[in-house]
Amino acid sequence: MLGETLTAASIAGTTALAAWAVRGKSATILAPSEWEGTRTRASVSLTFDDGPSESTLDLLDVLDRWHVKATFFQCGGNIRRLPGVAQEVLAAGHEIGNHTEHHPRFDFRSARYIHQELEAAQNTIQEFVGIRPVLYRPPFGIRWFGMGRAQKKLGLKSVMWSCIGLDWRLGSSAIAARCSKAARSGAIYCLHDGREMQKKPNVRPAIEAVKRLIPELIDRGYDFETASEILSPEPPVRLSGRG
Ligand SMILES: [Zn+2]
Repeated sequence: MLGETLTAASIAGTTALAAWAVRGKSATILAPSEWEGTRTRASVSLTFDDGPSESTLDLLDVLDRWHVKATFFQCGGNIRRLPGVAQEVLAAGHEIGNHTEHHPRFDFRSARYIHQELEAAQNTIQEFVGIRPVLYRPPFGIRWFGMGRAQKKLGLKSVMWSCIGLDWRLGSSAIAARCSKAARSGAIYCLHDGREMQKKPNVRPAIEAVKRLIPELIDRGYDFETASEILSPEPPVRLSGRG
């Protein structure tokens, strides 16, 4: 009886550990990643995944209104559909990161496949936007065997989040409230300006939430930094405007 209990407990423990290794925001067992920025400055970072989409330019307008620079983890397939939008993101001074070519789930996939997906997105971003990202975010936050090696080979640092907005299922008020509650120095928010590989996805709740969140956090004394900036101990150097 005791033996059975221990076995069940250890299996449950192993399963929980495996799930954490694959999905935990601060897990680094399968692949190294960052999930929060420096706590030495009153700064937060907005990151947007799955774009570019048909709504990304609306989001750029909101960010521009407050002189906020953000990080966009884009998918190669969406860049191929909307290359002009991806170029606008860069031209507006935002950072572009790699979010794979086709937004697959990586659990139970081969190391070779994972490497191909990361490399294909690097090449697409280079071809259409003219830069090679140094940051990467795994689709669905899933880490898997071989991902760490692929990141290393491609010179990519993986960035998770300290707060996920659940913006694919919550309304704008709930998203804004959730993000507001999670505000602290070094916070990295994960929101979306796309929805996997969908055309014309509805990302309006996220954009409306950001419209409320930015002025509120500015009032509370926070600056906004890109993911690369907030991961650096050195404060960002800006020529003008708000951080
Ligand atoms: Zn995604």
